[in-house]
Amino acid sequence: MQEMSRAEWEVMRVVWTKGAATSGDIIAVLAQKRDWADSTIKTLLRRLVAKKALATTKAGRQFTYTPRIGEQATMQQEAGDFFARLCDMKKGAVLTTLVQDTTLSQADIAKLQALLATKAKTAPTQVACNCLGDTCTCEMKEATSNGTD
Ligand SMILES: [Zn+2]
Repeated sequence: MQEMSRAEWEVMRVVWTKGAATSGDIIAVLAQKRDWADSTIKTLLRRLVAKKALATTKAGRQFTYTPRIGEQATMQQEAGDFFARLCDMKKGAVLTTLVQDTTLSQADIAKLQALLATKAKTAPTQVACNCLGDTCTCEMKEATSNGTD
């Protein structure tokens, strides 16, 4: 699966929600929500078919679109790909901020608490920086921030 743009994600969210949608359905939702032109939405649909994210069948005069990729799997893959680009040392801080800024259900929180309790049993004291090159200052910054906290 190739990377999707923000606009392509918006289209996928409509199709994931509806399960199957005609170009007319998708245009109606996005024209209202985003004020996008019909031609813009049709271009996005063509790109998503080319990327194999959507399947299309012709029903009468309209095309029907169905997702070829699952929402949960795609969300996890994209989030995982993004996290893979970060320095290992900084991932904890990013996750902490994400948790802080995310509305979580009681069930989500219970799962996170159980997971963290398990991870705490084997977690290292510190996570090493895995940046490339000698110009990385992660270790120094970490030392500085620990010193001032
Ligand atoms: Zn680093």
